[in-house]
Amino acid sequence: MIPIFDSKRQYNQIGSEVEKAVCEVLRSGCYILGPNAKALENELAQYIGCKYTVGLNSGTDALHLALRALDIGAGDEVITVAFTFVATAEAIGIVGAKPVFCEIKSDTFEMDASSIEKLITPRTKAIIPVHLYGQPCDMDAIMDIAKRHNLHVIEDCAQAIGAKYKGKMVGTFGDFGCLSFYPTKNLGGMGDGGLIMTNDEKLRDRVIALRNHGGAVRYHHDEIGVNSRLDEIQAAILRIKLRHIDSWNEQRRAHAYRYNELFAGHPEIVTPVEADNTYCVYHQYTIKVPNRDEVFDMLHERGIGAMLYYPIPLHLQKVHNYLGMEKGSLPVTEHNTDVVMSLPMFPELTDEEQQQVASAVIECVEKASSKAAV
Ligand SMILES: *Cc1c(COP(=O)(O)O)cnc(C)c1O
Repeated sequence: MIPIFDSKRQYNQIGSEVEKAVCEVLRSGCYILGPNAKALENELAQYIGCKYTVGLNSGTDALHLALRALDIGAGDEVITVAFTFVATAEAIGIVGAKPVFCEIKSDTFEMDASSIEKLITPRTKAIIPVHLYGQPCDMDAIMDIAKRHNLHVIEDCAQAIGAKYKGKMVGTFGDFGCLSFYPTKNLGGMGDGGLIMTNDEKLRDRVIALRNHGGAVRYHHDEIGVNSRLDEIQAAILRIKLRHIDSWNEQRRAHAYRYNELFAGHPEIVTPVEADNTYCVYHQYTIKVPNRDEVFDMLHERGIGAMLYYPIPLHLQKVHNYLGMEKGSLPVTEHNTDVVMSLPMFPELTDEEQQQVASAVIECVEKASSKAAV
């Protein structure tokens, strides 16, 4: 069995350090808003190259509180992609605004900036580009549209910590960048966690208040907030892992290029395309194959943990029925949903395992094609 992701192998590397740090937190008696959360915020701001960060309960809260801090709510529209994890659009719904879905580019899977402008209305307040699979979006084009139409930009960096566009970290282009520390993310905790990045002090202060019941001063509440604070145990674990993030991302990239080589000479298997001037961190290594569903089942029979990210685009999810978007309204998004498949990808993946995965994929694709031809 070769899993899509293996958190145990990472634990074997850093386990003793983590156990020591967690015990220190347990003994300290300080579990919320303590020294580890503060230190992680500072270390991440330095790593990303932004002025401020605020630790939160989840990536979903990071997106939701970024929207709240920008005063986006009922009656407003926010443009994003339908080819992403549901949380991106869910955050828009949580604040009472309406998600408006634009297209993606077929080769890079990222937001197609050329599909944005025709969706802008007087109610449009923001754009949420998603650096999906660890691939940066075309931030020059997106920021240019945002500036011309006076829109906010919130970058969903949940899958892309450390990714760069033209040498600059993702999350530093818009008003906000949002990270998730869900365990399988490139920088994952051992539980839930998230964080916002910003260069704007006022926005930072607003999120600090919102995450703690809507008040910056204890027992003084200015607005309805939430309870969303990154706990000390997660922060202590993430501080240890942050020291490895660059080397782990480098290992992911090396695996991606090795997969590309292993699939060279098999044109029916479309390997991921990197946009110019980007540094991709391969949260997922996602290929496109014919007869995808059949190939996927065959791989699972052979113990290869392939996954479909994501099997149903967000505009066709029941939760978004009210938008009235029919099948066929986002053809590139829908087509990609039908053909993509993500393969095992994590830093500790071995050459031998990659070889096994690639041979199995090539064999299954050939088998499914010859069956389909009969
Ligand atoms: C994981 C993820 C989120 C949500 O993060 P959580 O920490 O699970 O709430 C949002 N957007 C994308 C693209 C993600 O992959």
